[in-house]
Amino acid sequence: MTEARIVELQSQYDAFVGAGLKLDLTRGKPAAEQLDLSNELDGILNGFYILQDGTDVRNYGGIMGIPEARRLGGELIGTDSNHVMAAGNSSLTLMYQYVEHNLVNWHELGHETLKFLCPVPGYDRHFTVCEHFGIEMICVDMTETGPDMDQVQWLVQDDPAIVGIWCVPKYSNPTGYTFSRETVRRFAELPKTAGAGFQIMWDNAYAVHHLNDQHDELGDLLVLAEKAGTADQVAVFASTSKITIAGAGVAFMATMPDRLAAFERYLADQTIGFDKVNQLRHAQFLQDAAGIREHMEKHRELIKPKFDLALQKLATLADKDIATWTEPNGGYFISLDTKPGLASEVIALASAAGVKLTPAGATFPYGRDPQNRNIRIAPTYPSIEELNQAMDVFITCLELATLNA
Ligand code: PMP
Repeated sequence: MTEARIVELQSQYDAFVGAGLKLDLTRGKPAAEQLDLSNELDGILNGFYILQDGTDVRNYGGIMGIPEARRLGGELIGTDSNHVMAAGNSSLTLMYQYVEHNLVNWHELGHETLKFLCPVPGYDRHFTVCEHFGIEMICVDMTETGPDMDQVQWLVQDDPAIVGIWCVPKYSNPTGYTFSRETVRRFAELPKTAGAGFQIMWDNAYAVHHLNDQHDELGDLLVLAEKAGTADQVAVFASTSKITIAGAGVAFMATMPDRLAAFERYLADQTIGFDKVNQLRHAQFLQDAAGIREHMEKHRELIKPKFDLALQKLATLADKDIATWTEPNGGYFISLDTKPGLASEVIALASAAGVKLTPAGATFPYGRDPQNRNIRIAPTYPSIEELNQAMDVFITCLELATLNA
């Protein structure tokens, strides 16, 4: 039975190899039709560059961002605009800069070794920021309700060298999980006895990126942390990269005003100000929370069929004990676990058949998935036809590698 199935799968696989496909399921990029949704940004200012307070957005200055954009960031993040900085085109850059800004503080507090907690699977570019600064990474298990908070609490109390944790709290990259109320509450109440200067890097990149009618709800960490007296441990990040234009949107950061002011002083040595013209364009285009919601509905119409298709293809494996995968309510990814030891083999097979997948291990610090089983699937960028083919190749490789193991 298995032998016959292997022969059948091998012949399907050979046909894919022969077809000379060139398909890509790697990075979570918006498709061109999604980018088209924001074409109005170009020219929206129509010659009006002066703000109500008299600021000319074409000129230098104002690192904290224009009030209109800070308000927009407040609506996106769900927080008071006094807590928000509107910055440049990338939240990843802001996170990198925020870590660098904290280095001085951590060293002044006497830390020699620096360590970060990394819920896994997670976002590879968070890990490369740590690698860049020589910050050691410690894996924490990601569950359907967020990081394993018993582990987090225990580690943070046990090891004073731990100075931070990466979190993608909503529709997480790559699992799509959203942290539960209880998890957010426990983050807010993480005791101050933790490594001095501890920072929760709360990367809310997918705050408004719903796929289903039923939206996940995320507790407000800043408000809860303020109540618990731990708000100086919280730094929230977001951007419009996957709302308007990837790489040409506006990034935001939110934290307590005194910490924001200190970060502003750090930034002042490297910039006179961010792109305020783009900030104003975004404020006019998206307006407020309702405008963002309306716009994201258009994205959903474009990408929901892609997620549905990818999940339908995976569902054909459902009763075969081959893999497990997430079915997210939002975000940009599906996270799939093969049987232990098989992820790199599946990825290599798919690559030889012309389907590029994110390298095995990429969702773990140092590119090392200890069980070699996690694969991140990003269905947004290819067309439906391309995705259809790519998923056929992928599930063939997955079953073939499993049966051959
Ligand atoms: N955070 C997460 C979790 C992401 O998935 C991404 C995009 N892949 C980013 C940040 C990058 O955002 P930006 O374009 O604002 O730098």
